[in-house]
Amino acid sequence: MSPETDGSFRDTLATIDRRGRRIWVYPSRPRGKLYTARRIVATFLLVFLFIAPFIKVGKHPLLLFDIVHRHFFIFGIEIWPHDFHLVVLSVIAFAVFVILFTAAFGRLFCGWICPQTVFLEMLFRRIEFLLEGNGPRQRSFNKAPMSINKFVRKLTKHVLFLGIAFLISNILISYFVGIDKLRELVSSSPTEHMIGFTLMMIFSLAIYGVYTRFREQVCTLVCPYGRLQSVLLDSNSIVVAYDHRRGEPRGKRVRGESRSDKGDCVDCSMCVLVCPTGIDIRHGTQLECVNCTACIDACNSVMKKVGLPPKLIRYTSHDQITKGKGFRITGRIAAYTVVLTLLIGLIGFLAASRSVVETTILRATGRTYDELEDGSIRNLYTIKVLNKSADSLDIELRLASPDGIIDVVGPPLHAEAEKNAESVFVVQIPRKELLTTTTPLVIEVSDGTKILEEVHTTFFGPEPDWNK
Ligand code: SF4
Ligand code: SF4
Repeated sequence: MSPETDGSFRDTLATIDRRGRRIWVYPSRPRGKLYTARRIVATFLLVFLFIAPFIKVGKHPLLLFDIVHRHFFIFGIEIWPHDFHLVVLSVIAFAVFVILFTAAFGRLFCGWICPQTVFLEMLFRRIEFLLEGNGPRQRSFNKAPMSINKFVRKLTKHVLFLGIAFLISNILISYFVGIDKLRELVSSSPTEHMIGFTLMMIFSLAIYGVYTRFREQVCTLVCPYGRLQSVLLDSNSIVVAYDHRRGEPRGKRVRGESRSDKGDCVDCSMCVLVCPTGIDIRHGTQLECVNCTACIDACNSVMKKVGLPPKLIRYTSHDQITKGKGFRITGRIAAYTVVLTLLIGLIGFLAASRSVVETTILRATGRTYDELEDGSIRNLYTIKVLNKSADSLDIELRLASPDGIIDVVGPPLHAEAEKNAESVFVVQIPRKELLTTTTPLVIEVSDGTKILEEVHTTFFGPEPDWNK
């Protein structure tokens, strides 16, 4: 029985032999329409990755994930620790989106957008093709004894790999510390920022190690998304698939021989030779497949050469191949879509109703209330206003309820952009307004033109005198 029919190929990884040793993959250079399209998408993504840290929206960075200070900017929108519910909801929405997208379109993300694939296939692998030749040539090049030519090519490759790893590590760090801080780190002596410098070197070496040695093992052994494929996909999901009904029984093409008893697969193995994860897609959907489409391009070019229709390997679903059923909106996809729409609506509402200030009002410690000569009661409060906007603000307070006087007795509430303003204020209320010892207060915080926030607190007073 062959592995195609007994399924034994599922018992082993294509890149690890039975003794647990690595089988190095030497994929051939992909060519074709899909590869060209992937190169265009990858170019766009790489350009975006390298220029995004320099882009500002107004006075804010486009993207910044300052985890240390819990201060984020996502497409220019500022997220403070107080807005962390938005981050949590966004992460949940993203997870639902990934599940929905995978249920519908399989592992499309891995082949086209995932940084691991983009860096490996579009940067590192292309340098290797340039310096060491196509896949089979690389194999013999590696086996050949050391020569000046081999030494120079290997040295050039590793210097370039290290340089790119260093560049990627720097640009990734800038997403967490900001481009200005990165400039400062890069332009000053390493002894002035040993921790930053050490982290940068560790990241650079880790990236170099991943793309020099670990490679496709990240996708097959480490990536949690890859491991989840078996539960996210179903027979309706669109994946890179071999049309076994059309291709089997496969057989080598022999000149002049009739193929009436054979399928369209000419068993040329081109789809296997180009596969960067070393698998044979003709076995069916496999965990290792990153949907890179290299096998589609390879098979299409073979089909063209032998005069058969293309798309023996294509983007399609298992149901389409076996039952001729087109893509359907299943109950699972509909349910994920509803959940995602609700989450996006909620995030949009919360983001739109967010205030540009965050006000904290506390009663002054050690005091309850003062009774004034005119019979009114006075409470003292401290106030802290965080200005989350990119402009400075002059904050004004108004007592919305109950009737009374509010007066800032400390420093004026002037808050510079992204800074706090602190002060002290008093609230004075006629005793007749106080029906209990604890009266709810509503204070409007404004910038003089519009109300930015409404803060609720309490006002302490004496027991009401019902005889007056
Ligand atoms: S099977 Fe095809 S799509 Fe999947 S990883 Fe290999 S070449 Fe890419
Ligand atoms: S490239 Fe196409 S024809 Fe060649 S072995 Fe693969 S599936 Fe068969």
